Amino acid sequence: MQSPKALYIIVPCYCEEEVLPITADTLREKISSLKTQGLVSGESRVVFVNDGSSDRTWEIISQLHQNEPELFSGIDLSRNFGHQNAVLAGLMTVRELCDMAITMDADLQDDVDAVDEMVKRFYEGNQVVYGVRSARKTDTFFKRFTAESFYKFMKAMGTDVVYNHADFRLMSARVINELAQYQEVNLFLRGLVPLIGFKSCNVYYERKTRAAGESKYPLGKMLSFAVNGITSFSTKPLKLITSIGFFMFIISLAAFIWAFVVKIIGHSELGWSSTMCSIWLIGGLQLLCLGIIGEYVGKIYSEVKHRPRFTVAEFLNKSDDK
Ligand code: UDP
Ligand code: MG
Repeated sequence: MQSPKALYIIVPCYCEEEVLPITADTLREKISSLKTQGLVSGESRVVFVNDGSSDRTWEIISQLHQNEPELFSGIDLSRNFGHQNAVLAGLMTVRELCDMAITMDADLQDDVDAVDEMVKRFYEGNQVVYGVRSARKTDTFFKRFTAESFYKFMKAMGTDVVYNHADFRLMSARVINELAQYQEVNLFLRGLVPLIGFKSCNVYYERKTRAAGESKYPLGKMLSFAVNGITSFSTKPLKLITSIGFFMFIISLAAFIWAFVVKIIGHSELGWSSTMCSIWLIGGLQLLCLGIIGEYVGKIYSEVKHRPRFTVAEFLNKSDDK
């Protein structure tokens, strides 16, 4: 086999003080076992990205780094930029330092034991290895239902994502450097990474329950995430509006002819209810369509401004005292 390469594990953290010590212990064990197996090089490490947490998360990360500077690094973002941006900040910061990087959640829901398999797949020549959950036994019915509908809806709306894959994935430094070329502000990494191409494969794992703390993804955030995923990758909803418009036009043409015929026959007392219904229906439909167009206009607006996607306030790495 080739000489072992440097693996960086990137962990976005938002208010994760409860789970962070457990995560750090688990990852310490994992990295050292990978090193003894000769799967990764001695420079391999864990990089925690603090996404503007309001609790003690950054203190814990700094402490971990102080105690074990060769194992734990920390990136402190200047404010909360959101999960996707935190992951991107980690990747962009380490891309010159590592040979491959794995991104995973801080709550240990992503199975740490799948990491071995991912690294092995990397040596087999895969530039991207997707962690795909094989079961959702531990999720509540509601979470499972909404999450699975999410993938189906995304597909129907024209965004191709790897089914049941979240942001647990391995990427080679090569792929991360290509990802840097994708300058969009509205980030949806799950849609973006497959676009980069290169040889890839899936590794299956069972997603666990959160080790500690609460989910930072309530329903509202999840919905806006889905909308972002669709409107950033597909113009199918716009085409759908055109189709609906055409359909409505045909119907109104028929209704017009009908109204005309009734008028000529002499029974011109047309119903109040049908008028009311159509006003509400057409009005609602128009608002919906305007809203969808608005989503795209808003997206263009934020892309055009081209603001930075994250700001690193501090990077604690190795034993350099900055
Ligand atoms: N996260 C983040 N910034 C945010 C929200 C979440 O960095 O604004 C991190 C969080 O710390 C965790 C990961 O994103 O490591 C996934 O979040 P969570 O576990 O709350 O989501 P869920 O698994 O419930 O979908
Ligand atoms: Mg989670």
